[in-house]
Amino acid sequence: MNKLDTALVTAALKDAGFALTEHVKEANIVLINTCSVREHAEQRVFSHLGHLKHIKKQKPDLIVGVIGCMAQRLGQNLLENDAVDIVCGPGQIPHLTELIQATVAKNEGQVSVADNIRKADNNPELEDFESVQTIADRDIPGQAFVRVMRGCDNFCAYCIVPYVRGPEVSRPVNNIVEQVNRLADEGVKLVTLLGQAVNKYKYTAGEKTYTLADLLYKVSDIQGIEWIRFVTSYPQKEGFAELMQAMADLPKACNYLHMPTQSGSDKILKAMNRRYTARQYLGLLDTARQIVPDIAIASDFIVGFPDESDEDFEQTVDLVKDAQYKNCFVFKYSPRPGTAADEKLLDNIPTEVKKQRNYKLLEMQESISVALAAGFEGKRVNVLVEGLSKKPHLNCADSGGNPQLVGRTADDWIVVFNGPVSLAGQFSKVKITKISPLTLFGELI
Ligand code: SAM
Ligand code: SF4
Repeated sequence: MNKLDTALVTAALKDAGFALTEHVKEANIVLINTCSVREHAEQRVFSHLGHLKHIKKQKPDLIVGVIGCMAQRLGQNLLENDAVDIVCGPGQIPHLTELIQATVAKNEGQVSVADNIRKADNNPELEDFESVQTIADRDIPGQAFVRVMRGCDNFCAYCIVPYVRGPEVSRPVNNIVEQVNRLADEGVKLVTLLGQAVNKYKYTAGEKTYTLADLLYKVSDIQGIEWIRFVTSYPQKEGFAELMQAMADLPKACNYLHMPTQSGSDKILKAMNRRYTARQYLGLLDTARQIVPDIAIASDFIVGFPDESDEDFEQTVDLVKDAQYKNCFVFKYSPRPGTAADEKLLDNIPTEVKKQRNYKLLEMQESISVALAAGFEGKRVNVLVEGLSKKPHLNCADSGGNPQLVGRTADDWIVVFNGPVSLAGQFSKVKITKISPLTLFGELI
């Protein structure tokens, strides 16, 4: 979501005549797009602000804006930080250009956030702002994120998102289809449809109520789009078999499902206000694999949620063994002010225990990922090339002088191989020669 917001803001500011620089020292305006999901993310923003305060001493005209979820959460209070000139919530990004102009003209701080975020359910300006999106994700050629839903109504006990992104709203199906059409005309081959619980997508137009499965069929008809992904799915039975059937039916729908579990203990799931049991969750994975046999599944887990006993944690480890995920993201519980968990439950699992559980769960997942990756050895895969690989020290050229590139398969395996940079944004065939838990290595065919 944040990457998409950054891309939208970048495009809007470019349209307004601004130019982008990656170097703070060259900038007249610095914008920090923020996340509030864990405290650590917010601490990093404060440390950036500390650095910017220092730069401002030599460059007093520098304008610093904090945008996104942290801006919405802290609002006016953020202006008390000496470095900050603009505070702009995720729903107010269409006004960012005006906020910058007002800061310059009036020489005073500007704050624009939703007054009552849970009432801010229909934001026509935001809809207009994003439905004209024509640019591809500027980091990765040939790919774009398209938001299909804003906000969230699930209120998982630990989560800040409903309080900073507002209520759940499904975007009009026609706007989404038109937007994807435009992106396809610009050369986008992979669209990732975004929503906090994207499989809850529901939009009624006339007689018909469109679901995410319907949306997949519609987007699949768009010429030029080759791959479609969607994230993140909430573990719910409603519409699940239909969604998996759409994935099976549509060659363009990637066989990839990111469906966070959070815990393998029913006691903890209940305390988290997740509305399923571990067994029901595993039942959904069975359904997915019956309908799409080669589906790759990924998940998120939170370890160290209040009152998580060793036994609860062992149930999570068992679930990970059973689920056979491609990969998992594991997070240490971080209490977020204003959430039900923070207000009602004690953060009573010591940091050291959270760390050990995090490590142990990732270790278990790693052994599964390696076994799954081993199945790729010697195989040929089709990848969409993203660009140069991220690790410069590995970025070694082959005997033909080709640098190391990174791409992904339709089911989201990362593939590293040597090839010409001109392949970025294109599909390539790669023969896998070596594996690691998270990355496959190969040779361009
Ligand atoms: N909407 C998605 C979902 O429900 O799966 C993702 C939302 S959240 C931005 C991404 C992940 O962060 C969650 O799946 C959860 O594992 C983790 N997360 C959310 N709140 C957290 C918290 N307070 N502490 C630690 N991890 C958290
Ligand atoms: Fe947060 Fe739960 Fe909504 Fe995901 S579904 S954004 S975890 S409240």
